[in-house]
Amino acid sequence: MPSPLHPRTQLSTESIFATMSRLAAQFGAINLGQGFPSNPPPDFLLAAARKAIGVFDQYTAPIGLFKLREALAEDLSVDIDQVVITCGGTEALHALAQALYGPGDEVVILEPYFDVYLPDAKLAGATPVLVPMKLEGGWRLDLEALERNISSRTRALLINSPNNPTGTIFSKSELERIVSLAKERDLWIISDEVYDELYFSGAPLSLRRLAPERTFTVGSAGKRLEATGWRVGWILTPAGLAPTLAGMRQWSSFCSPAPLQAAVAEALPFARQTGYYQTLREGYKKRRDLLASGLRALGFEVFLPQSTYFLTARKPGLEAETLVKDAKVAAIPGRAFYEQHPAPDGLMRFAFCKTENELTRAIERLDAYLKTAR
Ligand code: GLN
Repeated sequence: MPSPLHPRTQLSTESIFATMSRLAAQFGAINLGQGFPSNPPPDFLLAAARKAIGVFDQYTAPIGLFKLREALAEDLSVDIDQVVITCGGTEALHALAQALYGPGDEVVILEPYFDVYLPDAKLAGATPVLVPMKLEGGWRLDLEALERNISSRTRALLINSPNNPTGTIFSKSELERIVSLAKERDLWIISDEVYDELYFSGAPLSLRRLAPERTFTVGSAGKRLEATGWRVGWILTPAGLAPTLAGMRQWSSFCSPAPLQAAVAEALPFARQTGYYQTLREGYKKRRDLLASGLRALGFEVFLPQSTYFLTARKPGLEAETLVKDAKVAAIPGRAFYEQHPAPDGLMRFAFCKTENELTRAIERLDAYLKTAR
């Protein structure tokens, strides 16, 4: 028998998003768990991809296809020399963890958190330090707790606004406080902004605007253009650091799929010029409100998100693991977003990037289940 695999393979367990999608398929449940849109990507993106296959088929440079970097530089008002293309936000986050911290280092992460942040830190040998957000009065940042959890070992603050799973957008004054803490304690900031175009009232402020010299911003074409499987994401780096980040990510995937990079390059200016994001937001807002009012009518406490396509809601005593089997509706259990503190009882995350029909049917199924379960 060969010797056992390295202990870090303990991190190879199935993600909660994959688990809930698998259970949803197994039990014939409506899948409001994993955040991927039910509808296809927009026609202009699909047409651009069809055109690109057969033209852009070989490796691009690890830093990314020039015309995509150019399109992003224009869209995000950033210097092209600060843009690195990655295989989705996931690879961007992994490369940043590898580039920024190692054994003995700590990274401060907000809880509830998006799942990849923890394995990324652990695979780099660093220790994640989790700071709970406040649920009372809607999900808010706890700036005192954030400050208390910074130690002499802290290397970076990992901030996610618009936030998954809570849907909160941090205010300008909150972001300014984060930046002043980062400056005082000389910390890097990783700012996961993949939901930057999915907001329902005010647009989020990018941390990069406040601290360009120490902020790495993570973005995602999958979220903006409803093509989560395409794996086209990016990092905006402080000046001078893009070649290093490109050099780190080359060891995992070398480059993001070339024709899809080309298609996104063509789609980004088109999306901006034609008001695509505005329409996207309007559609999501409608579906958010549909889900929120349906859940409220069933007695859930709903925390209305300002952004993203996720809604958190609570009904003490209910478990997502039971709902997927017995109500045939899949959500993500709140517990999955917590490691160091207890999750609020009965907390769940529902994705509303699904059709109105699916959302309506999910509410009907939950209603039927709650009536029989009573
Ligand atoms: N970001 C998505 C979510 O939060 C999907 C994550 C994944 O499956 N890796 O649901």
